[in-house]
Amino acid sequence: MTTNCSTEPPSLVIKPRVRGFICVTAHPHGCQENVHNQIDYVKEKGPIADSPKNVLVIGASTGYGLASRIVAAFGCGAKTVGVFFEKPSDGGKTASAGWYNSVAFEKAAKTEGLCAININGDAFSDEIKQQTVEAIKTELGKVDLVVYSLASPRRIHPVTKAVHNSVLKPIGQTFCAKTLDTDKEVVKQITIEPASQEDITETAAVMGGEDWEMWIDALEKAGVLAEGVKTVAYSYIGPEVTWPIYKDGTIGVAKLDVEKAADRINQKLAGSGTAYVSINQAVVTQASSAIPVVPLYISLLFRILREKNILEGCIEQIYRLFAERLYAGTSVPVDEAGRIRIDDLEMKPEVQAAVKELWSQVRTENLKEISDFEVYKKEFVKLFGFGLPGVDYEKPVNPACL
Ligand code: NAD
Repeated sequence: MTTNCSTEPPSLVIKPRVRGFICVTAHPHGCQENVHNQIDYVKEKGPIADSPKNVLVIGASTGYGLASRIVAAFGCGAKTVGVFFEKPSDGGKTASAGWYNSVAFEKAAKTEGLCAININGDAFSDEIKQQTVEAIKTELGKVDLVVYSLASPRRIHPVTKAVHNSVLKPIGQTFCAKTLDTDKEVVKQITIEPASQEDITETAAVMGGEDWEMWIDALEKAGVLAEGVKTVAYSYIGPEVTWPIYKDGTIGVAKLDVEKAADRINQKLAGSGTAYVSINQAVVTQASSAIPVVPLYISLLFRILREKNILEGCIEQIYRLFAERLYAGTSVPVDEAGRIRIDDLEMKPEVQAAVKELWSQVRTENLKEISDFEVYKKEFVKLFGFGLPGVDYEKPVNPACL
């Protein structure tokens, strides 16, 4: 990916413009700083032994996918191919955060002599799968790890060309619960009507396991999966307060399908590789901030995890996933359902009991006192490169240039 620093800079002082669960601006230098901070964390933790050397990350520009790419490159010394769907700067507008992140990652990797290939386009399409296969053949040969970390509200099916839209709804019953209006900073009641059968099918078509399976099929057919390849897709379970809208809702059905896809992939690979689902901790990302109830839950959870000194973000989670699960030098530890659990700290009984207690108490008046909503807000704008120490936010910058 290239940035255009030669054009007459439409120099902008870039400020966050938050609209609900999205920020419509992003700061190039802040995003770069974010990537560098994650790289520094991984370097400080040290190299991971017996780790992969050629890694494909699908959904590599933000959140868990970006952290996976950073751990692969800077913790394992791996060559990486990152696939994502991001917007470059256009007409003086800022690029999307994931676009800046990917440019910053590529630069940092290349500075250390690490091959990094960015593929920006629709991962659900056959074209992008083919482009990725070609890039692997030319630059990497074969891959020994495939991370599947897509989060998308929409998918154009590559065969039928149907457009599928996912919805976040409960199944079988109306859901009434506390939620947080993050703009107005108000704790209020939310009511969501149950999903129709079509809603359930649509959501599974977007966030289910079919696309992961299609990726593995395409890579296998092209002969670019190394013997012993590992592939991992990310999922979430969380506590009971979120179950009606998450685990037992439309997204939960889709995530169950991801687990079934892991079984199907394992059968197809027939011992020449292994597919895993990793259950990760709730963290602040563009995807999680769009789920009702979750920002309030995260604000309370972070308070408890921080007090217990066990608060982790994407990079800490993924470093542990690689070092203590996928490449721990033993067989990969899994739960009774065969899933990797890196949500162990979040799901500690004492953490959940404390969050449950706060959940029953929380209201608008005591939100800031008993929760980490202030931390949530900081983490949210940080996703878009704002609020990072060391970045001069008053200085005009060219949004097309990094
Ligand atoms: P995110 O929004 O930060 O990242 C999504 C990634 O998908 C980005 O790189 C984006 O560019 C890419 N993407 C979206 N649509 C695409 C398309 N059509 N083509 C190519 N790339 C596309 O999301 P995240 O929160 O890091 O989620 C990643 C995975 O982790 C998801 O499966 C999610 O369910 C899981 N997970 C998230 C949490 C959480 O709290 N955020 C917790 C557990 C598991």
